[in-house]
Amino acid sequence: MRIVHVASELFPYVKTGGLADAVGALASALADKGHEVSVFVPGYRSVLEHSGALQAERKHQLKIEVGDQVLSGEVRAFSPRPGLTIYLICRDEFFDRRNPYGAGGRDYEDNADRFIFFCKAAVETMRVGEFQADIAHGHDWQAALFPLFLRDAERRHGGTLAVKTVFTVHNIAYQGVFPAATFGRTNLPDELNSMDGLEYYGQINFLKGGLLFADRVTTVSPRYAQEIQTAEFGCGLEGVIQSRAGDISGILNGVDLAVWNPAIDPLIPAPYSAADPAGKKLCRAELLKRSGFDPKFTGPIFGMICRLVEQKGVDLVLANRDFFVKQNCRLIVLGAGDKRLEDALRQLVADAPEKVSLSARLDEAMSHLIEAGSDFFVMPSLFEPCGLNQMYSQIYGTVPVVSRVGGLMDTVIDADDNPSFGTGLMCLPTAAGLRDALDRALKLFGSRTRYGDVQRRAFARDFSWAKAAAVYEKLYQDSL
Ligand code: ADP
Repeated sequence: MRIVHVASELFPYVKTGGLADAVGALASALADKGHEVSVFVPGYRSVLEHSGALQAERKHQLKIEVGDQVLSGEVRAFSPRPGLTIYLICRDEFFDRRNPYGAGGRDYEDNADRFIFFCKAAVETMRVGEFQADIAHGHDWQAALFPLFLRDAERRHGGTLAVKTVFTVHNIAYQGVFPAATFGRTNLPDELNSMDGLEYYGQINFLKGGLLFADRVTTVSPRYAQEIQTAEFGCGLEGVIQSRAGDISGILNGVDLAVWNPAIDPLIPAPYSAADPAGKKLCRAELLKRSGFDPKFTGPIFGMICRLVEQKGVDLVLANRDFFVKQNCRLIVLGAGDKRLEDALRQLVADAPEKVSLSARLDEAMSHLIEAGSDFFVMPSLFEPCGLNQMYSQIYGTVPVVSRVGGLMDTVIDADDNPSFGTGLMCLPTAAGLRDALDRALKLFGSRTRYGDVQRRAFARDFSWAKAAAVYEKLYQDSL
């Protein structure tokens, strides 16, 4: 199949979260299966400066209609491996910025124009390059209008650019909602400016476009596919999701084992595996040292890596401050984002510097070291579409402590509920729920045999992308 992906993030070129990992790994896994895969991504500064993208060649000049303006840009392309071509949509005024979506805690004011331009430019590149894809697959709100622009271009110019369109929502909490006047910037037919189209309580909702108009809709875990049909998790779009219930599937993300695999990970000080776990002790000592603790500490280490946003349950960790201050354990947090949460974590570090450490930055190497060196990985998300770190944790023999929501439900088995199968500990997404799981973690750590059993089963989990890619492949084939 000829498969086109459109996404605003792509590992290893630009990443703010799991979207980048998922699109990067899916594209590679589909190429491994012999499909011809193209990925469109904005030519952000980080992408253009990435060593892998320096070979990108200029392909086309672009003239893109955005409202009553015609905006120019350029497409560059490179092929990092056989079967995969990456197209960079460049327009410095929009994408030559340090951060993809905003700065100083605020979204950029021109985000609607930036991503309308991006999606239209992807369609225009397909048209000019005579792509004729079998599947055109957009991801998240930044690419949610892509299926609509694609069909609109076919209507205007004739021909078929893609046989079927697929849209994946990686997180329904981010919808791309803009003032009503934004509709004029899309140049889409007026009938789409209605409740059955992009209109959303007097505003324009990009995500709604992808959810309503792609031929197939997917999300990133079976559990989340159910949850977003309810008011509790649907973030106001539950009715839209319900209207597509027959076309929605939940496909669990996988893990890119070329990047996340303790046996070959170049970012950790010693390789290890279930069969030969000795290296994990060295990773532990290095993690303690780098976090400013005594490397000989023998109690449990709780690791945490996340965007500092409410979703990730940072408040639940803060509500359990007395646990981390009083117990003989270490809490090592890597996270950047919300200033309120960062300040509160800094205060916790100030109160117990001998027990808690915070690295408030994006740090890929540190994230690997935390996965490898911790005994438990704390992820008490209030909601979690799929979640990647709980999967990485298991592969790294680090027992995840997670809440009973979304993809966490589909990827972790509670060791107290299921003594023979458990791979982690699960809790309700409340402060008391987390406290109960933390207490159980201490108990589990106190029994070397029981901890060892849970760890061994975690090590043995198969979260490979090959499995996930096969499910996407089947979905594509079914839709065709
Ligand atoms: P989300 O997409 O909601 O952020 P996921 O668990 O799906 O959550 O994916 C998060 C990804 O981002 C993981 O690969 C995680 O390791 C990474 N990550 C989050 N925060 C940081 C950070 N501060 N430094 C490095 N990597 C991070």
